[in-house]
Amino acid sequence: MADLVIPPARHLIDGEWVPAREKGELPVIDPALGYPFHSVARAGRQDIDDAVAAARRAFPGWAATSPSERGAVLRRWADLVTLHTEELAGLEARDVGKPLSGGRLNAFIAHDIIEYFAGAADKLTGVTLPTRSPGHFGYTLQEPYGVCAVIIPWNVPMVLTAANAAPALAAGNTVVLKPSEVAPLAPFALAELARQAGLPPGVLNVVTGLGSEAGAALTSHPDVGHISFVGSTATGRAIMRAAAGNLVPVKLELGGKSPNVVFADADLDAAVPAIVASVTENAGQNCYAGSRLLVEASVQDEVVARVAEAMRGVRLGAWHQDLDMGPLVSEAQYRRVLGFLTEAPRAGARLVTGGGPAADRPEDGWYVEPTVFDRVEPGMRLVREEVFGPVLAVQSFSGTRQATEMMNDTDFGLLACVWTNDVSRALRLAQRARAGQVSVNQFADSGVIGFPFNMQKDSGFSRGGGYAALREYTQEKAVAVRLLDSRDPD
Ligand code: NAD
Repeated sequence: MADLVIPPARHLIDGEWVPAREKGELPVIDPALGYPFHSVARAGRQDIDDAVAAARRAFPGWAATSPSERGAVLRRWADLVTLHTEELAGLEARDVGKPLSGGRLNAFIAHDIIEYFAGAADKLTGVTLPTRSPGHFGYTLQEPYGVCAVIIPWNVPMVLTAANAAPALAAGNTVVLKPSEVAPLAPFALAELARQAGLPPGVLNVVTGLGSEAGAALTSHPDVGHISFVGSTATGRAIMRAAAGNLVPVKLELGGKSPNVVFADADLDAAVPAIVASVTENAGQNCYAGSRLLVEASVQDEVVARVAEAMRGVRLGAWHQDLDMGPLVSEAQYRRVLGFLTEAPRAGARLVTGGGPAADRPEDGWYVEPTVFDRVEPGMRLVREEVFGPVLAVQSFSGTRQATEMMNDTDFGLLACVWTNDVSRALRLAQRARAGQVSVNQFADSGVIGFPFNMQKDSGFSRGGGYAALREYTQEKAVAVRLLDSRDPD
């Protein structure tokens, strides 16, 4: 088994580790300690030009590679991810600040995603179309776009690398991936494994740098044929404006403010730990985090008390201690979350537990306490904006109608979770939810293979996850044929 080494201050372009051409490097900071432990290259326009040119050169060969062979390369890639699970887990855990087991879980998920698209590569088909007469014949082809730009955030870099690169590559595209400057290492590791699996040079390039420099240069590059963006809603708007310049299709997966809607008849023994995990996993830094708790008034006191008790039991520690929750990813994120914690009580929310920096925080990491605010009003910033920290806002409702209204009273539309033993009520809420995903009596999609990672409203408009993602990375061509009279005897 070859080593998995990420050289400092390098991009991965055309199968080679190369330094930045203009702008030097950026530090990679360990959030548990607050100091750098690695470095990456800081891309400017020339590096992006190099990466896009490499992807463009590689495109005809990769697109012409048989889908079965593309699938075989992806399958070898998935196998290498399994072989290197521990190194990948440690790299992502340290870079983002999550517990080692969180890194391990993300390596498993990345493996599953790559394997899924390995199997899907040779199952991407068009359709034959009905015609008005037997003399006509029509069909569609699914064709790759060419060079796909993929820009991802820092919170789940392995999963997002796999979720975007694997379907793009399976469909015959080549990729230039720009990870976040905040946690850039794991995508390099995955790309290196893809190289070891036999992915030809230039098919998957990874370029690091700032959003305003590398990201902006990539999204405005005239040779990019498709842009996938995962990140904040504000940046998503900037990406769309950039894409408009070259009229390039965009896939956007943005922020969220997901509700856990808990009815009095729910199985609270199942709901309470899931609610706590939904807002403390990855220190609440997940797009789908269950940051709003809507609870039926008759069980509000009980649910809040049980959730608060469980939140107080969440153990904080550095990635290698592998406890329940790590620090926030950066000082900027730490200050932002503390801003919400200071403002919410002033706006009238009642602090139930937590509410500040972790008192006996290990080392100098950016740890905050798991926090619950009760009596939160719909207009508060805590309810309307994504906090991206372990902070839960609790509101209460009476009856299904009010629960539905409150569930949908948000600009975001990522995920809604409904907890009830009444099947009809659960399905009615699922029908009425203005969200791309709904889960019933569980948080998120655990246990479903190829669950589409769909978004609505300000959460974006992607058809990511599952087979639909393969279509997202292809353009459809329609072909109409008139059959000429045959010279051959019938
Ligand atoms: P961000 O929007 O600040 O940055 C995301 C990426 O965009 C980074 O790589 C950054 O360098 C780049 N970028 C920034 N400005 C750019 C520009 N002008 N042009 C091109 N690229 C630019 O987000 P973040 O702080 O890294 O991540 C947190 C956000 O990501 C949250 O809002 C979270 O909800 C969202 N997120 C969404 C999903 C999803 O699937 N919906 C998944 C994970 C995270």
